[in-house]
This record gives sequence, C-alpha cells and structure tokens, in this order.
Amino acid sequence: SRQFTRPLNDLANQYNMILSAVAGAERVFQIIDEAEEKQDEEEADDIASMTGEIEFRSVDFSYGDEQDTLTNINFHANPGETVALVGPTGAGKTTIISLLSRFYETKGGQILIDGKDLKTISRDSLRRQMGVVLQDSTMFHTTIRENLRYGRLDATDSEVEQATKAAHAHEFIVKLPQGYDTVLDSDGKGVSHGQLQLLSIARAMLADPALLILDEATSSIDTVTEMKINDALTKLMKGRTSFVIAHRLNTVRSADLIVVLQHGEIVEQGSHRELLGQEGFYAELVEAQQMERRGLM
Ligand code: ADP
Repeated sequence: SRQFTRPLNDLANQYNMILSAVAGAERVFQIIDEAEEKQDEEEADDIASMTGEIEFRSVDFSYGDEQDTLTNINFHANPGETVALVGPTGAGKTTIISLLSRFYETKGGQILIDGKDLKTISRDSLRRQMGVVLQDSTMFHTTIRENLRYGRLDATDSEVEQATKAAHAHEFIVKLPQGYDTVLDSDGKGVSHGQLQLLSIARAMLADPALLILDEATSSIDTVTEMKINDALTKLMKGRTSFVIAHRLNTVRSADLIVVLQHGEIVEQGSHRELLGQEGFYAELVEAQQMERRGLM
C-alpha cells in the first residue's frame, strides 16, 4: 500500500500547491511563478506536525537589490494565537506572509517555526500545515463536493458535510438544484461572493492545518452572511495559529497580537488595549476608521 500512498501524497501536495497558487491566492501568492524558488536544502526535514509557534527574529528582506522591503521584523506568536497584520497598502503585510510560506528567503535574520529555522523545513511539509482563506476564493470548475475535497482528498461525504455544516455552507448547498453536485464555474458564478467564502472556510476546515493565513474580505457582504462568515472563521481559527491581513477593526481588536507595519517596519505591536494606550499610529488608524464609519471623513 506504500506504493499507492506515496503518489497520493504527492497529488495532495500538488493540490495544496494549486490551492496556494490558484484558489484566490493570487493576491497573496501571485509570486509563486515569479519567485525563483530555491530547491530545498538537502537536509530540509519533513515535519509531520507542528504546534504553530512562530517567531520572526530580526528579519530583513528585499525583492531585488533596491531598498529593503522589510527591515528588522521581530515578533512572536504562541501556538493557537491570532496575529493581525495591519498597516497601509504597501507596508509589507503580504510580504511577511510570503516569507512565512517560503516563497522567498529572508535576506537577514531568521524565521522560526516551533523553534526550528524555516529553512530547514521542507516546503511541501510546511505548506501541508498551512491553510489559506482569501478574499477571492476562486473555485475550480468542478462540483462543490470536489472543490471541498481539495481541502483533503480522502475526506468522506460525511466529513465534507460535517465541515460545511460547521461553516454554515450546508444550508445553501442543499438548496441548490444539484446540491453538492452543483458544478461551479472557475469564477464561482452561481453562488454569491459570501457563499464562496463559506465554501473556502469549509475547505480549510477539512484540511485541518496548524497554521492559517486569512486575507479578510473588503467587499461588502450582507449582514447575515457576514455573521455566518465570522462565526465560521472563529471556529476555523480556534486552536490554530492564524495570520490575518485584516481590514476590519472588529477582527483586529480581538487578535492576540497586532503587528502594525509602516514602510516595511514594525512601528508598534501589542494588544488592542495596549496599542490604544500608546496613542500612536494604531490609535490614529482606529480613530480614522471610527470617524469614517460615522461619516465624519
Ligand atoms: P501590503 O501587503 O502591506 O500591501 P506588500 O507586502 O504587498 O504590502 O508590499 C510591500 C512592498 O513591496 C511594496 O512597496 C510593494 O510594491 C513591494 N512588492 C510587493 N511584491 C513585490 C514583488 N513581487 N516584487 C517587487 N516588489 C514587490
């Protein structure tokens, strides 16, 4: 059976790679083609499991020879914690995720996962432990059931249903004329934007990764669906170390660690309460967002 399992694992890896590269990951992972991915070092280990402790230690990075994109990035997340990356466009949030995913190598410093240097962990085993839920979760041109199974190829129908129920997707799926056998367009036509997100959350639940990357939706979604998404995400994030590129204050507020970036540097980090107390850049961002909501801007 080993001969059988091995190609299946490879296939699963490929699907994970495809998921990372295609399933809406364009924004975060568009670089997969461009990045000249170095081969894993010979000694790169496969890790069977991880707790999800993450540390960036004096990390520097630049895309080319020009100025550093990230300078002296230091932060630490305990297993299961939620890290919110906030800051203006171009501040370096996506780049931090790309480094964590080993799409690029750090120029200086170290990234440690469970205390191990990321460079010593094979890319395949790393990405097998990573789940990605992005705002434009493009689906494949196949049935809903198969789309969900990209999360875990050997999932049974009942496991798929367990996940869709937890993610509040089951309800709308069974109302579709073809139910779970509904064929999705690759652009997800036929289901709403919010429903696509619920499907993508269910898929990540099936994959059961230790590490989650979330790119929060900016597009407007009706209140009821948004509540479902929030609840599904809360369930998904429980017990997993999660990195959120956050656009909404509510998400940020409840994070264990908020990392505030500006021009590739961490200008502040801490909890919502701590950062408000500092009356710095974060407090300004919060105030600006609150004013915006009240229509004052
Ligand atoms: P954010 O996610 O906070 O909007 P990014 O990490 O995407 O910021 O970008 C940080 C900086 O790096 C920006 O100046 C951006 O233009 C630059 N950058 C992002 N991706 C690339 C790339 N593939 N090649 C060169 N520069 C890039």
